[in-house]
Amino acid sequence: MNLLIKNASVIDLENREFIKRDVFVEGGRISRISEKIDIKNVKVINARGKHLFPGFIDIHSHIREPGRQDKEDIISASHSAAKGGFTTIVTMPNTEIPLDTPEKIRAFMEKCKIDSSINILVCGALTRAREGRQLCEYGLIMKEGVRMFSDDGDWLKDTGLMLLALNYINSFGGTVMSHCEDKFLCWGPGRDDSASFSAGLLPSFEISESIAVLRDVELANYLKAKIHLTHLSTSRSIEIVEEAKRRNRGITCDTCPHYLLLDSEYLERYDTNFKVNPPLPKREDRLSLLRALTKGVIDCISTDHAPHTQEEKEHSFIDALSGMIGFETLFGLCYKYLVEKGEIDLFSFIEKITVNPAQILQLHQKGVIKEGFDADLVLIDLGEEFLYSADEILSKSHNTPFLGWKLKGRVKATVCRGRVVYEERVSS
Ligand SMILES: [Zn+2]
Repeated sequence: MNLLIKNASVIDLENREFIKRDVFVEGGRISRISEKIDIKNVKVINARGKHLFPGFIDIHSHIREPGRQDKEDIISASHSAAKGGFTTIVTMPNTEIPLDTPEKIRAFMEKCKIDSSINILVCGALTRAREGRQLCEYGLIMKEGVRMFSDDGDWLKDTGLMLLALNYINSFGGTVMSHCEDKFLCWGPGRDDSASFSAGLLPSFEISESIAVLRDVELANYLKAKIHLTHLSTSRSIEIVEEAKRRNRGITCDTCPHYLLLDSEYLERYDTNFKVNPPLPKREDRLSLLRALTKGVIDCISTDHAPHTQEEKEHSFIDALSGMIGFETLFGLCYKYLVEKGEIDLFSFIEKITVNPAQILQLHQKGVIKEGFDADLVLIDLGEEFLYSADEILSKSHNTPFLGWKLKGRVKATVCRGRVVYEERVSS
């Protein structure tokens, strides 16, 4: 069914302004944007007082299917993402059954077509079974629509193999995403600071990340290849990336809301919901990340949505699994604690969850609101503040340290390929 969105404040990222417009959606595309559109027999959304953005794009998430559907499956992930305003998410290949062959990826994507209300893209594994020993069949995997490869969760230690993988994937037009952590320098879930030591936690040294970043950047520069460095968490990594970007425009990176809002002092609470990989940064590193965000060194903000069961989190800090869910909080957290606090302007923030990831993922029809583009849209009430509570979570898992936090900017409706995939239920 066609859709008419009336009286929305539509974001114009090019001119960095909002304009009052009606938007008509036909056949999954944005067919017309105009001051006034009147069409009969279509679904109408009255968007007066609300802001319309391109559907958000998450470059890094974990769906857990295939293999651990008790934590999250395609259906619950797509509902949770749509509630957070996401219309496209990239799922990582480090599932129980790794997504490392064209056949497995094809089967998964076929299931997504049936189960998912939003666009789910697969990041293919970099090596067979993610073991870091043998390359995957990148050319064949790319025929399935995959554009990104990673052994996320692990950094590919074998530099020679990484050189081959980067060269091979780039020659096919794909991008390598690297989870930069040299595990030999990751002794535990803390940082080398007094907060972690007083909590009795061994550190993951900052250089565990920056050494990995430095090697990957060197390889990419040597090959004149693209590379995307994901969930960066230290100031030294940012310095390296900033310098490297001057020589190689193909170097991009992201970080997550938890690295921008939380720091290692939270580890003293012994709440395993604060356990993430890489660990929460030291305060000074967090402040560097914030500066890098405004300077444009950080291209995207990703969720690293990582669902875990309560049992997997109810362990000692050492034994609990790493990660937190993030689809339903990214916008509300960043809007309230970054945009409203003046850490970043709204337009730059929106670019990092729309047009920038669209470019990296080569999604040429997404990321902006323009006639002819895919009708992936999210309507938000920027004035609405609310408490994040467990009873409204649509993810199957509830592992988040942000319960009870005030969020701002409520998603009212999410439209994917012209279909309303989420609409806030208003109780009367
Ligand atoms: Zn990772």
